[in-house]
Amino acid sequence: ERISAVDGAVGAFLDVDADKALADADAADAARAAGRDGEPLNELAGVPVAVKDLFATRGQATTAASRILQGWVPPYDATAVTALREARLPILGKTNLDEFAMGGSTEHSAFKRTANPWDLGRIPGGSSGGSAAAVASYEAPLALGTDTGGSIRQPAAVTGTVGVKPTYGTVSRFGVIAMASSLDTPGPMARTVLDTALLHDIVGAHDPLDSTSLADAPRGMAAIVRAARAGRDLTGLRVGVISELDGGEGYDPGVMDSFHGALALLEAAGASVEAVSLPHLEYALDAYYLIMPAEASSNLARYDGMRYGLRVEPASGPVTAETVMAATRGAGFGDEAKRRIILGTHVLSAGYYDAYYGSAQKVRTLVQRDFASAWERTDVLVSPTAPITAYRFGEKDDPLAMYKLDVTTIPANLAGIPGMSLPSGLSGGLPVGFQILAPQRADDRLYRVGAVLEA
Ligand code: GLN
Repeated sequence: ERISAVDGAVGAFLDVDADKALADADAADAARAAGRDGEPLNELAGVPVAVKDLFATRGQATTAASRILQGWVPPYDATAVTALREARLPILGKTNLDEFAMGGSTEHSAFKRTANPWDLGRIPGGSSGGSAAAVASYEAPLALGTDTGGSIRQPAAVTGTVGVKPTYGTVSRFGVIAMASSLDTPGPMARTVLDTALLHDIVGAHDPLDSTSLADAPRGMAAIVRAARAGRDLTGLRVGVISELDGGEGYDPGVMDSFHGALALLEAAGASVEAVSLPHLEYALDAYYLIMPAEASSNLARYDGMRYGLRVEPASGPVTAETVMAATRGAGFGDEAKRRIILGTHVLSAGYYDAYYGSAQKVRTLVQRDFASAWERTDVLVSPTAPITAYRFGEKDDPLAMYKLDVTTIPANLAGIPGMSLPSGLSGGLPVGFQILAPQRADDRLYRVGAVLEA
């Protein structure tokens, strides 16, 4: 009912299957009523979840918000989706995103525009903008997103919700349409830290179907949140403020006020707060925008007009594999996807490989080392999640202007570390996100700090 009432204006969903979701919710209720025999039910059984349309859902169209996948119905579920089904969370539907998760505003969807529920003239962030908007507009209490360069944390920030990018490799990528495989990280989105933790505990598990899945995914996030909420004490915790992301050019003063307000709350809870410099962060954005398109250009090579979705024959001339491929890709990919494919193939081409891709990989190592040495001095690192609040549609039409806003979120993806965004207040009536980062596999620290901050 809520979706019917508001999604016409918000546009969070690409596809809703209300009948199936209601039947699944009833089945979960029946299982709960049936009592204790058999498997204990997950706490969230029967609570519906919205799923970014980048996750394969068996029997339900999955498009990555691209025309090239229009009409494709996956014959299998992503492992994260299987986990939802096993825990009996009904899937409400598939949410909008920037095409193939390339973007930070959801304006790059081939199908529709998603609005920010706080101001319908503004972007909901991206690329998981549909998931964030569904949660912020009370259309769904929970959502799944993916974060390759900030696509869970930044939409959470600009919609006043909570989003977590877990440690790389702790939530399976199997069945998640690939953008940049060494960076892609599925994760939970919700309105509170506890809800996010409960969902994290469902999807965070080792998966033999994903070759980069870690054997020892951190577990028990919800228990961490409950303990932290009860104690509200961060005595002894060392919080490092990332000097390179602590305001200056490009940051809204209102965002910085909110950020510094949250730091004061952490200090009041007993944490020590000090500045920590990560000198190579200066180059992280540039390195990301070489590595990500390089990997994406390789991953998107599978959309050839033969195997999935769209197939377009050339308007004239011979019909060969090459001409069908060219016509299909010309019609099927949007501008942003084409831009990144061209950029990626260029930086991988003979003669440019070392200068661009090779250099970017070296920068990635330097960023990882910066984090490694920071963890010797601090337990968590913090920054604003995004330098500005939600902007108006069309305001960042220049791709570089949009890319630059990722400066705060990208370092975590290059390093494979976990990150959380949670609301720290409002600036000009719009939500501001506070970002917490922790060492690999120490996702529990995000939840401990987040729970105290939220309380
Ligand atoms: N905004 C970033 C980009 O455009 C991040 C995208 C993502 O995390 N999927 O690449």
